[in-house]
Formats: sequence, C-alpha cells, structure tokens
Amino acid sequence: MQYLGVITDPEKQSTSPAFQQAAIDALGLELKYERWPTAPDGLATRISGLRAPAVLGANVTIPHKESVMRLLDDLDPLVHRVGAVNTILNRGGRLSGYNTDVEGFLRALREDAAFDPKGRRFALAGAGGAARAVVVALMEARAESVTVVNRTLDRAERLLADLRPLATVTALSAVSDTAEDWVNAASNADALVNCTSLGMAGSGHEGRSPVPAELIRPDMLVYDLVYRPADTRLLSDAKERGARTLGGLPMLVYQGAASFKIWTVRDAPVDVMLAAARVALGVSA
Ligand code: NAP
Repeated sequence: MQYLGVITDPEKQSTSPAFQQAAIDALGLELKYERWPTAPDGLATRISGLRAPAVLGANVTIPHKESVMRLLDDLDPLVHRVGAVNTILNRGGRLSGYNTDVEGFLRALREDAAFDPKGRRFALAGAGGAARAVVVALMEARAESVTVVNRTLDRAERLLADLRPLATVTALSAVSDTAEDWVNAASNADALVNCTSLGMAGSGHEGRSPVPAELIRPDMLVYDLVYRPADTRLLSDAKERGARTLGGLPMLVYQGAASFKIWTVRDAPVDVMLAAARVALGVSA
C-alpha cells in the first residue's frame, strides 16, 4: 500500500479525497488518498515526509501552492509560468512539482464546452491564483487577447506585468471593474471567465456575479470557475440571456485526473470522479 494526500489549510475542506479515492478504487489500485491538514509553519516538515517510500505523492491547495515550490527538488517548466504547484510526485525520495490547473481548465473548455480558445478574445474576472493559471492556459492555447477585469486594478497589472514577457501571440490588458470597464471588456470578448470567488457557496458572496448581466450576449461562452453551487448567479444570468455556459466542476475533476495520471501513469476514470465529486459537494448533475 502506498499513500497520497492533499496538503491543505487545516480550516478548509477538500473534495479531492472523495474523488481521488473513487478513481483509485475503480481501478483496484493499492493506494490510499488522505487529507493532510497543514499549517504554514508545518509545511517543510510535511514535505520532507513525502520522501518516504510509502508516499507516492500529493496534491497541494491554498495557502501552500506557491510556498511549496522552494521545498521541491525539481519543477515542471509550466510551474514557473503559473507560479504555483498543485501536484507532487515522489520518485525514489526526489520530489517533483507540477501544475495541472492549466490542463484542467483547457480540457473542460475544449471537451465540455466544445470551445477552441485559439484566436478567441476573453474577458476574465479576477486576478488571484486561479486567474493566473487561466491566463497562462489561454496564452498556451494561443488566444487572441485576454482582458483581466479586477476590483483591485494594481493586482491585475502586476499579474500581467509578470506574464507579458511570456506572451507570444496573446495580447494582455488589465482594467478595473467599473461599469464602463466592463462594457469595453465584454463588448470585445467571445468568452467571459469568472476567476473570482463571487458566487461561491461559503464565500460570503453567494448569489453575486462579477459580470453585469446585460453585457452577456447569446453568442458568448460564459465559464464560471466556481463549482458550488452548480448554478451560480453568473451562469443563471448567462442562461437567461441565451449564452452557452460551463461551470467549474469539470475543471476541478480534470485537474485531479491529470494529477492521477502523473502518479499512476494510468488514465483516470473521469466519470467516476465526477460522480464522486458531485456527491461530496452536494451538487446536482
Ligand atoms: P484568490 O487568489 O483569493 O482571488 C480572488 C479573486 O476574487 C481576486 O481577484 C479578488 O479581487 C476577487 N474578489 C474576491 N471578492 C470580491 C468581491 N467582493 N468583489 C470583487 N472581486 C472580488 O482566489 P483564487 O484561488 O484565484 O480562486 C478564485 C475562485 O476560483 C474560487 O472561488 C475558487 O474556488 C475557484 N477555483 C476553481 C477551480 C476549479 O477547478 N474549478 C480552481 C481554482 C480556483 P481583489 O484582487 O480585488 O481582492
């Protein structure tokens, strides 16, 4: 038996144990996936414990995704671009860091929304960790442009100043979230992506949307990274306006499926994972 786990804030729950263990059991693997609550001052000890032969690897969530980078032996090149690790593999005592959020975001966009981001224009709400992974993903996918709309303009500008040197074809711009900025950002967009926590159950902002509803057009794709509730305010506004929609659950499961492949070299049973994640989150299909 080998062990996997999610290194998480002691105060936060995680759905990863539910859907990763469901995938492990479906394939009959001798693995146990646990929750490993870890305070920031215990992170170094936790990471050194991953070098034991009984440990295959781990997931890493907020608040450790950035600070863990310096504790690992090698980092996948994508980690440097995203600036965060969410997956660790233990290979004979050497720890490698990966980021699977980019793959999760793009797979959901392509497979669940049938939307090819190449050459398309995006308006993206938010400038935190999730937004950074999404901007990198859209740059990798050769999107035409990404406008980052954020309450704190300075944070959006810092994010793009960091990423602009890596952009080959994608034009990047940052604006604040005033009504006028939203009009300009949305009117030039083929797709809107919510990377803020607005709408998330338990965030204190459930029932709120970052995007003024009247700016949503029927020809747009509206992608909300929030995965609980399944029908956020943004997605229900988008449906009412006749737009195509995509929620955050497929991305959550696909980033987990990509981690699963890194550890086991097996394709993850995503339908099993999706069903287990829905049960764990208490959301309907
Ligand atoms: P974060 O780093 O804390 O960033 C939060 C973002 O939300 C910031 O841009 C912040 O703006 C904005 N925001 C928060 N409250 C706001 C408010 N009242 N009004 C306007 N903007 C507000 O969080 P994160 O890690 O990027 O995660 C963001 C969301 O994405 C979370 O709900 C998370 O669950 C979800 N997510 C989903 C997946 C998935 O697999 N589906 C993966 C990652 C994240 P300021 O900069 O102005 O504070």
